[in-house]
Amino acid sequence: MLSTKDKQQPIFSISQAAVLLHISVHTLRMYEREGLIIPFQKKSKHRLYSKADLERLECIRNAINKMKISINGIKTMYSLIPCWDIIECSIEERKNCKSYNEHSKPCWTYAHQNNTCQKRNCRECEVYQKNAQCGQIKELIRSITRVK
Ligand code: SF4
Repeated sequence: MLSTKDKQQPIFSISQAAVLLHISVHTLRMYEREGLIIPFQKKSKHRLYSKADLERLECIRNAINKMKISINGIKTMYSLIPCWDIIECSIEERKNCKSYNEHSKPCWTYAHQNNTCQKRNCRECEVYQKNAQCGQIKELIRSITRVK
C-alpha cells in the first residue's frame, strides 16, 4: 500500500493520466480550467498527475456520470469546504475574502490578495488535498459540527 507521501508524487503525464482514467486529454484540461483539479506544473509548463490526483479525478467522474452532478454543482460543493476554519484565517481577512463570502467555486480558484492564501500553494494545502471526495467533505463538516 502506498504512503500518503508516495500517493502525492506527480509521476503521470497528462496523456498517461487520460489513458488510466479512460478520458481524453481535452477533458482533463477542461477539469483544470474549471478548477476541479490542480495538476503539478513543471518549469516547462507540462502537467504531471499523482496517484492522489487520479483518485480525485475518479471521484469527479463518478459525481458527473453516476450521481449526475454538473461541473458547476461540484464547484459549489467544493466552495462549501470551510477553509477559513481549517487554515484559521483571521476575522479581518474573512471580511474581504471572496472564497469566504461567495459560494460558486472552490477557494483555490480565486486570485487571493492581501490575505494568508496569497502565498500558499493550493496543491499542497490540506483544504485541497484532504477534501478530494464527497464523503471526506461530509466527514469534515460532521467533525466541525459534532456535539462535544
Ligand atoms: S491556500 Fe488555496 S486551497 Fe488552501 S485555503 Fe487558501 S485558497 Fe484554499
